[in-house]
Amino acid sequence: MIKLHDKYFKPFISAKEIDAAVSKMAADLANDLGDEIPVFIGVLNGSFMVVSDFVKKYPKPCEVTFIKLASYEGVKSTDDIQRLIGLTQDLTGRTVVIIEDIIDTGKTLHEIHRIFKNEGVKQLLIATLFYKPEAYKKDFKLHYVGIEIPNKFIVGYGLDYDGLGRDLPEVYQLKTTQHMTNLVLFGPPGAGKGTQANFLKEKYNLVHISTGDVFRFNIKNKTALGTLAKSFMDKGELVPDQVTIDMLSAEVEKNAGANGFIFDGFPRTNAQAEALDKLMESKDSQINAMIALEVEDEVLVERLLERGKSSGRKDDANEGIIRNRIKEYYTKTAILKDFYSAQNKYYGVDGFGGVEDITERLCASIDKL
Ligand code: AMP
Repeated sequence: MIKLHDKYFKPFISAKEIDAAVSKMAADLANDLGDEIPVFIGVLNGSFMVVSDFVKKYPKPCEVTFIKLASYEGVKSTDDIQRLIGLTQDLTGRTVVIIEDIIDTGKTLHEIHRIFKNEGVKQLLIATLFYKPEAYKKDFKLHYVGIEIPNKFIVGYGLDYDGLGRDLPEVYQLKTTQHMTNLVLFGPPGAGKGTQANFLKEKYNLVHISTGDVFRFNIKNKTALGTLAKSFMDKGELVPDQVTIDMLSAEVEKNAGANGFIFDGFPRTNAQAEALDKLMESKDSQINAMIALEVEDEVLVERLLERGKSSGRKDDANEGIIRNRIKEYYTKTAILKDFYSAQNKYYGVDGFGGVEDITERLCASIDKL
């Protein structure tokens, strides 16, 4: 997914699919035109990519030029009448092929037909890479169409959203579903993830999912999942990936309308991180950041033993189990820093100090996203 200005776009048509469509158009045209040397005319700005690729694929001699349609200055109904810039050569008796990046309503095409009526061309052919049949309101024949697309707003491969996106080699489609903010709150046991998540979920209106809490809820309610999880949790070991991933997916599904999620205690392994990416992708969304609370081991042990006095958690009460949880973190979980760093999504935050100070540091990171 990409962001241009204020909007999000998701991948729609790959560079490979575009390449195949352009190749086919070039081959079909060459076939139909025989030995005649056509004048290909691209309509700027959008067509620069398709024209460039098209003429490289055109197997015979051809001429190529560009025109641009511009609104008349000072005319109020700028939508209707446009003037042509750039047509300097004599086209009398020539076969002219207009190459468009996209034809939607057909308004530009209408202008082109109006303008070319007086040029005395032998024939005027229209070729367009993309065509939106649902939006097309004119009767002009489209002689060559690359790819028919639904009436969606697209960017890339010459097409822009308010100036941006023309340079993208593939085509993206506007994401109309609500944009979510999804955070992975990261850090060793005792780093303060749960405490901080409680503040952050209020401030950013997010759903907080703590896998540890969900497991404990299941243990308390003596579910099958609880029984299974307990055997691992009591020793300070990780619950198997598939069990945890399935449970997490179910929790996300339960909150379909959420503004976004704070994942606390998940992912803890590479397999979980990959599963989370897939899950977010299926929701047309993504993880925006891993925010990591960085705290020294001895502080962690101290904090957890202190919490154990009141939390009633068996895994907080015993220093051996606490140290095992921290060890599990370093051997299995800490590598996730690399996973998210590779996507430029890792943000480390000093987790030492007062609760409010730490919240402030976290918010400073999140507000920058
Ligand atoms: P926590 O409350 O996050 O400290 O988690 C307590 C325990 O629940 C862990 O020590 C694990 O046994 C189990 N657990 C929580 N989240 C996960 C996870 N993502 N993967 C595997 N086990 C987990």
